[in-house]
Amino acid sequence: MKLYNLKQHQEQVSFGQAVRQGLGSQQGLFFPSELPELGDIDALLEMDFVSRSSKILSAFIGEELDSATVNDMVANAFQFGAPVAKVKDNVYALELFHGPTLAFKDFGGRFMAQSLAAVSDGDGKITILTATSGDTGAAVAHAFYGMENIKVVILYPKGKISPLQEKLFCTLGGNITTVAVNGTFDDCQALVKQAFDDAELRQDVGLNSANSINISRLMAQICYYFEAVAQLPKAARGELVFSVPSGNFGNLTAGMLAKALGLPVKRFVVATNANDTVPRYLQSGEWSPNMTIPTISNAMDVSEPNNWPRIEELCQVKGWPLSDLAHGAVSDQQAAESLQAMHELGYLCEPHGAIAYRVLDQQLKAGETGLFLCTAHPAKFIEVVEEILGQSIELPETLAKHGAMELLSLERDANFEQLKTVLYQAQD
Ligand SMILES: *Cc1c(COP(=O)(O)O)cnc(C)c1O
Repeated sequence: MKLYNLKQHQEQVSFGQAVRQGLGSQQGLFFPSELPELGDIDALLEMDFVSRSSKILSAFIGEELDSATVNDMVANAFQFGAPVAKVKDNVYALELFHGPTLAFKDFGGRFMAQSLAAVSDGDGKITILTATSGDTGAAVAHAFYGMENIKVVILYPKGKISPLQEKLFCTLGGNITTVAVNGTFDDCQALVKQAFDDAELRQDVGLNSANSINISRLMAQICYYFEAVAQLPKAARGELVFSVPSGNFGNLTAGMLAKALGLPVKRFVVATNANDTVPRYLQSGEWSPNMTIPTISNAMDVSEPNNWPRIEELCQVKGWPLSDLAHGAVSDQQAAESLQAMHELGYLCEPHGAIAYRVLDQQLKAGETGLFLCTAHPAKFIEVVEEILGQSIELPETLAKHGAMELLSLERDANFEQLKTVLYQAQD
């Protein structure tokens, strides 16, 4: 597999390099030079999730990793499904929250962990260092838990993430070290940055970031779009409209890549919350990010989406006009109404999925079949969901189980020398 840097096209890297580096020079994103031929798509859709996903990812990665290796990586990463649920006539939900941390980020995070292990040379140390305001830390910790030769250190602001979020990833132990920092999320990010700027430390512990723009994450996410189509009525193929609740636009990039690989999707709907840089851009042609606004769908509170250049590139390569993208921005109030409306139809959702449902419902035309992505489990946003519905909802087993476990976090000040000590100690 060859990829090029969107900021500097002559910079070409392999899959392994792209996974290890994350970003190219000038912070440029990597983009695949060629899209593989997948052959008979109907036959592919007949396969089971893991076999089909291995085939897609193997075709993408090419000769760098043999297909048996890719198959093992996929089997290890995708140990849970992505079921489709019917919400009403012609409208379906793709549930991406059945992984260990109850959000779609498990797919990308786990495949990235497998990829990094497969492309690293074995003798070198790897320490993943990341700062989290909640969800990413959990996905990363669970994805790398128990992997040999990889240490993970996660910083989070003490007392500023929800107790359940904290329990979900600070109870693992083993190769996962969690640090409750006396400070803010920005302090945590500053510490991470300082660590990456320290060449000696970087070398000594083999620092690596579990960055969300890593290409391996997007590649993994392509697979569940195929899984969705495989479960939908065959007659709907070609008339399918997918609605994607978007923040950093990785999920939408993956969906459009799936279409570029031959998946029979008619069109995509971009759904955002009040952080609506992209809908406004699609409307006016002007890119003018506003200040980020906090919303009840906080995983989508992004006003400068990192992955947007990949979408523009793909549209250009394929000759798809950007105007084919339907779009809508949804307020908290409207998201709550849609969540409630779905509940009356017998489907329990959370704010991110409700936003995608609402915009889909507005944009769907006669004869089309709609599918919206449910990116998190309702219990992950239990306070908001319970308040909107005026009733309590059940905690899934994973959350309940971790809730009863002991916190193993270290507590440190926002001090670089203290972090260095933690990073060296994590090697033992
Ligand atoms: C990360 C996240 C999103 C946004 O996905 P992008 O790929 O960044 O657009 C949506 N919903 C939930 C629950 C998330 O965690």
